[in-house]
Amino acid sequence: MEQKNYDVIIAGGGPAGSTAATLLAQYGHSVLLIEKTSHPRFHIGESMLPMVEPIMQRLGIDWSVGNLCKRGAEFIDEASGKATLFSFEGIHHTYQVERSVFDEKLFNNAVQHGVIAHQNERVTQILCSENKVQIDTDKAKYQGRYFIDATGRNALMGKKLSTINKMTNLGKFALFKHYQLASTPAAEKLFVHGNIQIFLSKIGWIWCIPMTQGRLSVGLVVQKEVPGDLKQEALFERYIKASARMTELLDSAEVLSDLRIEADFSYLNNQRYGQRFSCCGDAAGFLDPVFSSGFFFAVKTAELVADQLHQGLISGTEADPLLHQSSDESYQKGFKTMLLLIERFYGSNLVENLFFEHDRHKGIKKDIIAILSGDLWQQENGFQQGLLRGRSKVGI
Ligand SMILES: Cc1cc2nc3c(=O)[nH]c(=O)nc-3n(C[C@H](O)[C@H](O)[C@H](O)COP(=O)(O)OP(=O)(O)OC[C@H]3O[C@@H](n4cnc5c(N)ncnc54)[C@H](O)[C@@H]3O)c2cc1C
Repeated sequence: MEQKNYDVIIAGGGPAGSTAATLLAQYGHSVLLIEKTSHPRFHIGESMLPMVEPIMQRLGIDWSVGNLCKRGAEFIDEASGKATLFSFEGIHHTYQVERSVFDEKLFNNAVQHGVIAHQNERVTQILCSENKVQIDTDKAKYQGRYFIDATGRNALMGKKLSTINKMTNLGKFALFKHYQLASTPAAEKLFVHGNIQIFLSKIGWIWCIPMTQGRLSVGLVVQKEVPGDLKQEALFERYIKASARMTELLDSAEVLSDLRIEADFSYLNNQRYGQRFSCCGDAAGFLDPVFSSGFFFAVKTAELVADQLHQGLISGTEADPLLHQSSDESYQKGFKTMLLLIERFYGSNLVENLFFEHDRHKGIKKDIIAILSGDLWQQENGFQQGLLRGRSKVGI
């Protein structure tokens, strides 16, 4: 069997893996990136945050090409007629992306930076010892100085070490489809502002994400108990049709995909780093997608891990089990902020009293926008500081 040596071996060629691989290759390290599927592959999660942009700039990706400009996030309660827009104007640019296309672009960009990338190859075994890492796949064996787990919600290391801490108090599952919209005035308006729209629903919420070429991603996130007799398709149809605006938008639309489901999505991997390994992206943790934070955390954790690991590799301290301690503290601050905001979204009057009333609290509006844009490490965000004084219901 083939046996090769690399500085860093990465499992998972999604946004986290491709980002970590590219940054490490830019630093001059030899990197092997192993992806079990082949690009382009479908992935849910099209709505990006402004703070993704500085990382795209580091990667050399011009993401204004081929994506729909997103100006903000709107929260809408059709029952009461209340709505609010958190505008991202004046921060960084951000976009709604077709993930199959965009993830492939990030993967190819890693290759262009000198990363050795394999597709259709699955990592099956990981052995991180004092002197080296040994990685087995369904095709070969490799050795390296360091291993990064970027396997997304497969969370290879978290499952191996049994360190996945599930959060059951947030959204329970999501049902979603892609559509091709007919050219109606409602559709045209949506594609001009490019906002993500979040509709409150009796059982959770609905996302409406416009993309380029008249395509739309629609998802129903269920948080409350639902009638047990309803099959997934009927459940989706019932709650999408309960929204007058969604019904208007989807009038004469063509359905582009079968209904898909993702369940039990929120968790934190309690052991995100250790001797010669660290986890980034969804392999480190994942939160209910109501504030579209997943892709941002994926590339941000990849950046934190790559920058810290570079220091370890050049100083020969990459085997130190505590190498990632301080960068992980940064991650925890960001993750906990978002978790607490999501808990309040579901379990308090946050939307009613603050989101819909933010014009009465001007300072808070700015602070909320900073959090929703992914700017989670500001010193001066009073709203965030208040959030972080609280404790999450899952003990984080
Ligand atoms: C319902 C839902 C809606 C969402 N909406 C949004 C949104 O609007 N905005 C947003 O920012 N985020 C959203 N997300 C989250 C977002 O999609 C993820 O956070 C993001 O894709 C994480 O990137 P990643 O690289 O960590 O994982 P992934 O993108 O999942 O990539 C992991 C890769 O690892 C590969 N892999 C897995 N196991 C192995 C193995 N053993 N060997 C080799 N390769 C392997 C997989 O094939 C995959 O390509 C949503 C998530 C869900 C569930």
